[in-house]
Amino acid sequence: MSGDVPATVHAIYDEVLRRNPGETEFHQAVREVLESLAVVLDRHSEYTEMKTVERICEPERQVIFRVPWQDDRGEVWINRGFRVEFNSALGPYKGGLRFHPSVNLGIVKFLGFEQIFKNALTGMPIGGGKGGSDFDPKGRSDAEVMRFCQSFMTELYRHLGEYTDVPAGDIGVGAREIGYLFGQYKRITNRYESGVLTGKGLGWGGALVRTEATGYGAAFFAEAMMDVRGESFDGKRVVVSGSGNVAVYGIEKVHQLGGTAVACSDSSGYVVDDAGIDLDLLKQVKEVERGRISDYAERRGSASFVAGGSIWDVPCDVAIPSATQNELDGDAAAVLARNGCRYVVEGANMPATPTAVKALREAGVAFAPGKAANAGGVATSALEMQQNASRDRWTFEHSETRLAEIMRDIHTRCHETAEEYGSPGDLVLGANVAGFIQVAEAVHAHGLI
Ligand code: GLU
Repeated sequence: MSGDVPATVHAIYDEVLRRNPGETEFHQAVREVLESLAVVLDRHSEYTEMKTVERICEPERQVIFRVPWQDDRGEVWINRGFRVEFNSALGPYKGGLRFHPSVNLGIVKFLGFEQIFKNALTGMPIGGGKGGSDFDPKGRSDAEVMRFCQSFMTELYRHLGEYTDVPAGDIGVGAREIGYLFGQYKRITNRYESGVLTGKGLGWGGALVRTEATGYGAAFFAEAMMDVRGESFDGKRVVVSGSGNVAVYGIEKVHQLGGTAVACSDSSGYVVDDAGIDLDLLKQVKEVERGRISDYAERRGSASFVAGGSIWDVPCDVAIPSATQNELDGDAAAVLARNGCRYVVEGANMPATPTAVKALREAGVAFAPGKAANAGGVATSALEMQQNASRDRWTFEHSETRLAEIMRDIHTRCHETAEEYGSPGDLVLGANVAGFIQVAEAVHAHGLI
């Protein structure tokens, strides 16, 4: 922990380490928030007396369950399911489900912890939670994914409810999976409870713009960062890692705002396309065919595929890491800065390592943490909940305008909080402090629970 962190914060962190052994990503996420809180505890002695920080670091409830299912050949598989209901001070637990072989309790807790503050920053009435499974959907048939989702929901349903806990998608969970999960929830409970899941299909309770929201939101956030520096996306070269939902729609909005996205990636490597990523082709390859990014390069004359390697070697003005946690390390950050990159905006959750964040800060690169920059997805989930509750349906334009306003407001709040607490330009501190205070005030108001 950095040297100026007071002993009380050190003690809280040591206790988090002691009772959550081996959960490295969770430790990393907690540490990053705690490092910002010295200035808050100085001004709010009641948080120390009431152990508000300690309480926020401890999930309200953690559920771990067995998920048995059978593949198309009849072989039996056992996966592990998780739902960490972290904090409900501001509203029902809200956060996605991740299906990926890397999922374990520490990953779910890091994501759930981040989600508390991210959701607070949206200004919407949503608490923080996260879940998922170590199930790997890659290469699985639709029928296998459906059987897995049905088995997963057969346990999870008893913990959910529109006023209790409202999951959505994340890596490996999109509209298809949400459909199977919703179907099983409805079947077990005999309730058409639209507000129990977000990211639903447009024909049955889903909201326009939810699919695009995280990527669009990150681009809007980047635009707001440029705006305070008298700049815009016009003429900027942008590198977006990943090729999932966040990356695809991040690229779409970057192009609409006047920038050019020249590279994107998947776990096999990255493509560089100096003519600008062809979005129709990218969507065809990744969304329709569920193919590899190398297929894009094969069909596009201006593009080349680099197997393995680091996408951060591609020179750019703006980097939007949108793949997964800890994908951008200190070395990559140094290369980006050396090549003239001026903005790094986290589209994924915690894609930059602490060493990378430090290197970027030292090099004067403007940096936006995911809990602020990628909040557009969950904010639009909250808009979906609003529409479900009022049995209404808004237009694409209306929802997109709301999303753009929310992202600008989050930026303003982080920017102003950083100034108010003596660290102008430090959006990490601004996001952590603004999000934390909002949650802490509600936790405090609810008494010792
Ligand atoms: N998984 C997304 C996130 O990391 C969205 C969560 C939601 O919409 O509930 O924020």
